[in-house]
Amino acid sequence: MRYYSTRGLSEFTTAAEAIKQGLAPDGGLFVPADRPAPFKTDRLPAGSYGEIAAKIFKLYLSGFEESILGKAVDSAYSETSFGHPVVTPLRRLAGNLHVLELWHGPTSAFKDIALQILPHFMRAAIRITGENKDIVILTATSGDTGKSALEGFRDVPGTRIIVYYPRDGVSEVQQLQMTTQEGNNVAVAAVKGNFDDTQKGVKEIFSSRDLAARLADAGYRLSSANSINWGRLVPQIVYYFAAYRDLVGRGEVRQGDKVNFVVPTGNFGNILAGYYARELGLPVNRMICAANRNNVLTDFINTGRYQSRRPLHRTFSPSMDILVSSNLERLLFELSDHEAGRVAAWMEQLRETGEYILDPEILRRLQDLFWSDFADDRETLQAIGATYREHNYLIDTHTAVGRAVLDKYTEREKDDTVSVILSTASPYKFTGSVTRALFGDKRFEGVTELELLKLLSRETGTAIPPDLAKLEQKPIRHRREIDREEMAGHLLEILKL
Ligand SMILES: *Cc1c(COP(=O)(O)O)cnc(C)c1O
Repeated sequence: MRYYSTRGLSEFTTAAEAIKQGLAPDGGLFVPADRPAPFKTDRLPAGSYGEIAAKIFKLYLSGFEESILGKAVDSAYSETSFGHPVVTPLRRLAGNLHVLELWHGPTSAFKDIALQILPHFMRAAIRITGENKDIVILTATSGDTGKSALEGFRDVPGTRIIVYYPRDGVSEVQQLQMTTQEGNNVAVAAVKGNFDDTQKGVKEIFSSRDLAARLADAGYRLSSANSINWGRLVPQIVYYFAAYRDLVGRGEVRQGDKVNFVVPTGNFGNILAGYYARELGLPVNRMICAANRNNVLTDFINTGRYQSRRPLHRTFSPSMDILVSSNLERLLFELSDHEAGRVAAWMEQLRETGEYILDPEILRRLQDLFWSDFADDRETLQAIGATYREHNYLIDTHTAVGRAVLDKYTEREKDDTVSVILSTASPYKFTGSVTRALFGDKRFEGVTELELLKLLSRETGTAIPPDLAKLEQKPIRHRREIDREEMAGHLLEILKL
């Protein structure tokens, strides 16, 4: 499998280079240049999650030795790191409604599925490409990627990891997870502003040639653990197949029957992995893109007009508070039959005017597969309450956006196809909103999120995930707060340059 950039300026490159570099030199994203052979669902291994993962990695990561991939899979998806033998358990809530729990990893968010294995890919990529510099992983986070990347890359030889999170945009639990991070190669700073500001700051650092040269002289090379890195997306293709295999195994669908996937969406990485799964042969009816009040993607899928210049709202689903969804660029590239010139032009328009408009043919292709609506905060809390009352099942705010949007879909489209909601975080990461949904505004007013962990556990008889239960005892190690303009300076300071 060869890779190239969505913007067409770079030559073909290898999987190892694509993962090592993170972002293509022309500012585009790396995408597969060739189509992988179809991956038949009737030949899915009956064995472990890791076996499906190994098969999919082999298709996309040519140049990586099978034995290395096998070891990486065993270590990333072990029961010790995932706390659950099947890694991504599928739960049937009722009738045709299923939830795919993607948050059993070490930081209680779905990002762990990719970020537990990305460091293994990165180390292999460093070796395969003969890289002699240290890799500095620079990450902007809306809350969950940061912690997950820190946990994945901590003390990984040959790497440093620096995480920037928006000071005004993460939950208390998310913030504590990051500020208490241990490890000898980690740094964390809060950036004054929202996620889009933070992501923009990181993108600016990436596009500065001066900075790259200075870092290279000192023996460093930048890379990314954000979903702009292809190495983040490949691991996410796996659980779509694992879910389908489980549905067939339980007799919920027959081999070949199509299913709907409902994906709470922010940067468009998770749902894009579903698109690639379908390209590989997964029988998908609809990919349902569930947005919160920052509904740029909903408007885009329904009208073909991407319009990013609007206020960014802080919502109860902060990991989806995003107006510029990076991975959409990859989908546009696929939908326009790999015409990089067109993609580059749309991205240029987006940068200059804050918007672009698809032509009708591409829009039709988009709408053939994708459906979208959004849920506001009130609907999000209602969905948490309803899911708990109706199914005695606790969901977090992001998963709740998925549930609320699926309800809208079912009502409007009268489609009773089997549907799987991707559950992207443990409800314990967002205890403030979840307890509010279950017990009202008043009952726990003024109680900190750490206290709420225990209250939520007591009231619902569910267990606090081990990583979150330990938060209380951990000392704060990272207190730095910076302006967006200071990010490059901070990076140099951390690297002692
Ligand atoms: C990152 C995240 C999302 C959004 O996923 P994308 O791949 O950015 O679309 C949704 N929910 C949670 C809990 C997340 O951490």
